[in-house]
Amino acid sequence: MYISTRGWAEASPAAVAIKMGMAPDGGLFVPVAVPAVDAAFLHSLTSLDYEQRAVKILALFLTDYSVPELQDCVHAAYGGTFDPAGVAPVRQVARGTFVLELWHGPTCAFKDMALQLLPQLLLQALEKTNEAADIAILVATSGDTGKAALEGFKDVDRTRIVVFYPEEGVSQIQRLQMVTQEGGNVAVAAVRGNFDDAQTGVKRIFNDQELSQRLAAIGVRLSSANSINWGRLVPQIVYYFSAYADLVRSGAIRTGQKVNFVVPTGNFGNILAGYYAKRMGLPVNRLICASNHNNVLTDFIRTGEYNRNRPFHKTISPSMDILISSNLERLLYHSTQGDVKRVSAWMNGLNQQGSYRVDEECLQTIRNTFWADWTDDPSAQSVIQQVWRDHNYVLDPHTAVAWQAAAGYQAATGDDTVNIIVSTASPFKFGDSVLAALAGNESLAGKDEFQLLQELSRLTGWAIPPALAGLARKPVKHQRVCEKADMPECVRHILSK
Ligand SMILES: *Cc1c(COP(=O)(O)O)cnc(C)c1O
Repeated sequence: MYISTRGWAEASPAAVAIKMGMAPDGGLFVPVAVPAVDAAFLHSLTSLDYEQRAVKILALFLTDYSVPELQDCVHAAYGGTFDPAGVAPVRQVARGTFVLELWHGPTCAFKDMALQLLPQLLLQALEKTNEAADIAILVATSGDTGKAALEGFKDVDRTRIVVFYPEEGVSQIQRLQMVTQEGGNVAVAAVRGNFDDAQTGVKRIFNDQELSQRLAAIGVRLSSANSINWGRLVPQIVYYFSAYADLVRSGAIRTGQKVNFVVPTGNFGNILAGYYAKRMGLPVNRLICASNHNNVLTDFIRTGEYNRNRPFHKTISPSMDILISSNLERLLYHSTQGDVKRVSAWMNGLNQQGSYRVDEECLQTIRNTFWADWTDDPSAQSVIQQVWRDHNYVLDPHTAVAWQAAAGYQAATGDDTVNIIVSTASPFKFGDSVLAALAGNESLAGKDEFQLLQELSRLTGWAIPPALAGLARKPVKHQRVCEKADMPECVRHILSK
């Protein structure tokens, strides 16, 4: 059962938590009890494939879903759309350093791990809760999430999806990924404005009572697919176990031996899934939280003060350009033994002053598990170059931030525990920054996005992921452009068809 981080006391089954997304008091759903696993369970995973591992772990949390239901969901999510060579493979890149690659899904970034499964869990949740309405997902995206949500929801029964992206705020590849999207239940629109305009517009639509009544009359209920939904978090717990099982299976570690995970972090969803895995009994020594120049989490984990009142930096790891890490609220809840009063007070501070400071006890609890560091763009670029030169491995800019944090951690602590670097994007997804790091800025001159990919492929010998290479030939299906003031009308128009 699931309850709110802010005290709304009614305990809900997973299906309700997933359908609602957020608790009515503005808090996030957390499990009342975190299930525990033992060494025999860990060992049993080694002989299973990714789908089987996922079913075993999801079944511990989603107790209102039957095993056959979970099998169906998991197969629909990971069965066809991921690289047949492996859903979440682990590669050894250096001595004691492994990379967990989470970008073998349809959009080449880690959001696929959750957004392929969430729609399946949501569809089941509608059945389980006797929901009569269909769900329309609204997304404002700065790039990665919109495409991953479109791929996850396309042609899923009883769901529609509408994605808004800022007309001038996404890369050419990201725009092409979205405007060529196939599927009978999808719509994509450019907004004249920046990402904030798109996001503000979507929030306004969620609060528009008149619109929601008109949609209710035609049997549609609006929902979001953002990363605070439990249905996006729980799929991510699986790959921590899967990576560990792969290392045991290959003989790189013994069952029970501890490992560190190093996670490129933005909204704190990915690393929080690692925290749940550790709480369940996965042998994790440290979770290393890696940030780019938007280093609000580094400061928080070092000092206990979370302060978003600071300049916002646009970096070459844009999916981590975030100053409010929403999922941190769940960690605060668990690190205070569920003290909803304290958590609510801190979250009020964040809303009202943009900052809060946790007490020493809570900070110590967090620091027992987490370590944090950050990296700016020039160092991330030299890491990309150095890892390519020394290890023949190509990091994307997000993963480079994690690589650097792992190095910083080892230098600061002398800890020689095996490090598993969580890799969140294919280097081809951010091909311009990677190519500039490997061959200098001059190498970009005069090349369009596809020529950049080809050049990166030629230089490294790595194949361009088929989903990106194929974009050049795909017909554009979505040409809608709307003013930000017209977004509600645009949604009404799309959904009444
Ligand atoms: C979303 C994203 C992240 C950040 O993950 P969080 O769960 O928000 O911390 C890191 N890297 C990439 C490529 C992403 O798309």
